[in-house]
Amino acid sequence: MQSPESPSSPIPGGPVSAFAELGLPEAITRAVDAVGYETPSPIQGAAIGPLLAGRDLLGQAQTGTGKTAAFALPLLARIDTTLATPQLLVLTPTRELAIQVAEAIRTYARFLPALRVLAVYGGQSLGAQLPALRRGTHVVVGTPGRVLDHLRRDSLRLDGLRAAVLDEADEMLRMGFIEDVETILGQTPEGRQLALFSATMPPAIRAIARRHTRDPHEIRIESRTATVSTVGQRYWQVAGLDKAEALTRILEVEDFDAMVVFVRTKTATVTLAERLEAAGFSSAPLNGDMSQAVREATIDRFRNGRLDILVATDVAARGLDVERISHVVNFDVPYDVEAYVHRIGRTARAGRAGEAILFVSPRERRMLRAIERAIGQSITPMSLPSLADISARRIARFEARLTEALARPELEAMRAVVAGFCERNAITPDAAAAGLALLAQGDRPLLLAEPEPERPAARPERRVDREPPADRDDATRAPRRPSRGELGAVRPDCVRYRIEVGSTHGVQPKNIVGAIANEAGLESRHIGPIRIHDDHSTVDLPKGMGKALFAHLKRVIVCGRPMRISVVGDERERGRGRAPRPRPHGRPGAPPRAARGKPRAARRTTARTEPT
Ligand code: AMP
Repeated sequence: MQSPESPSSPIPGGPVSAFAELGLPEAITRAVDAVGYETPSPIQGAAIGPLLAGRDLLGQAQTGTGKTAAFALPLLARIDTTLATPQLLVLTPTRELAIQVAEAIRTYARFLPALRVLAVYGGQSLGAQLPALRRGTHVVVGTPGRVLDHLRRDSLRLDGLRAAVLDEADEMLRMGFIEDVETILGQTPEGRQLALFSATMPPAIRAIARRHTRDPHEIRIESRTATVSTVGQRYWQVAGLDKAEALTRILEVEDFDAMVVFVRTKTATVTLAERLEAAGFSSAPLNGDMSQAVREATIDRFRNGRLDILVATDVAARGLDVERISHVVNFDVPYDVEAYVHRIGRTARAGRAGEAILFVSPRERRMLRAIERAIGQSITPMSLPSLADISARRIARFEARLTEALARPELEAMRAVVAGFCERNAITPDAAAAGLALLAQGDRPLLLAEPEPERPAARPERRVDREPPADRDDATRAPRRPSRGELGAVRPDCVRYRIEVGSTHGVQPKNIVGAIANEAGLESRHIGPIRIHDDHSTVDLPKGMGKALFAHLKRVIVCGRPMRISVVGDERERGRGRAPRPRPHGRPGAPPRAARGKPRAARRTTARTEPT
């Protein structure tokens, strides 16, 4: 048994065992099977047993490792649905993560019909969450501020809690939530179980572990150094298109011989292979549910060129050795570096060159960095081929086919057919050729047009970028000292707003981005340049902000002050809509608000301005 201070035991990558062997109740393994997970990820293999046995846990793991299931599966097994009290509490740094974790837990609890899960987070009316809390929920997933608000109002009680989870603890620390977390943990019963997950283990997190866990089991996913020097490695940052659509674009322009596309679930091997097949690419799934005979037959077809794309899970592709694999696509990020190295090692066989492409969603960027660190080289960002690139490739392929056809002996006879047609219909030969080209292209147009670029809406999806605001470097997110020209002009689709919080109040661009992103549900990429002045700041936001949102943003507190947002140049606005003075914080020893950053301040306003 290890104390939080003792060195953790790294666990090697790769599947540990089958879900069925981990001692989970049948209803839960059935749900896992229904989602299509084939084997436990390394962190699941290591965490599920100790958590089922009631141990506290300290897991060094980041998003993408499967940590949600690592804690949810065993802790769900400990819930008694005959009691209508919260028994599992999961604290997350952002509301998007809260929603996502709650959804994942519902999926895993699919065959536990009586089990209720509720997500509570700022930006949503406090009152709206009350009926669900009153009805009784077994699992509460929430951001620390909102959970604390409910505790203070007595709308949430933790006396029946059996387990608590701190998800992305280092993020909560960085976003200034750690004090709230401590307060919440202080209200949980003696002897409840605690699982703490964090990508890094800074001293403050270790201190929390020391204070709130007993003899925790420690896990860390080892990132062994590895190099795969003969493989060209690129990544695409998922944005704008869904991954399947992005893949078909890549397939159109990439010169590949054979390709393995890695996905995480058995279900995805089938659905993606079907989608690629429908788009005209010869593809088949390869997963552990297929019989050995079918798997072998599929690999044979792949080896001898009757099949070009295999969509596979890690387990099914283990040991796959086919020389003609020129490309590996990591459609879903691998769990760890070892899996990555293993995957891309399927290409560049027998001294050939190979290419690997990795799809990385914004929340998986840490995994990308971890891979780069471990393989000791950087992975090159790539952009997707444009529709013009695709058109050019289609035309080139068409021309190649045409040139081949022109060399065929049957050509002469066809000449007479076309000449006769042109003469009878008074049509020029090039018009006839164009008509034939149209016929030849079938339902795959040679010329594709880019759709009109979408104008950003004032309130696109209600989602907040998982990358915490503090992660964004001021230089990329919001230039602190832009050239005059840069800030001089407001983009035609944006409006410049003034915010009554400036450098004298300790504000930084990330505080403003965080507050606006969290409170307005605006994706951070829609938040334009921010300039911090002494007593105020300016920010460019998409046109079309609704009145209610505008009124709400006026009252959102950043660094202890209401933003009192107004349109630049509209002096009348600034006098109006003064928000109530911020509630004094009143917690002894609390650092000044400015030092604690945006989300806390923003969240407090939300709580105060809501109907109760
Ligand atoms: P997480 O690290 O919890 O955010 O999980 C990342 C992704 O991995 C999610 O899309 C999960 O659905 C998926 N996932 C988690 N565990 C497994 C597993 N054992 N097999 C396949 N996919 C998984």
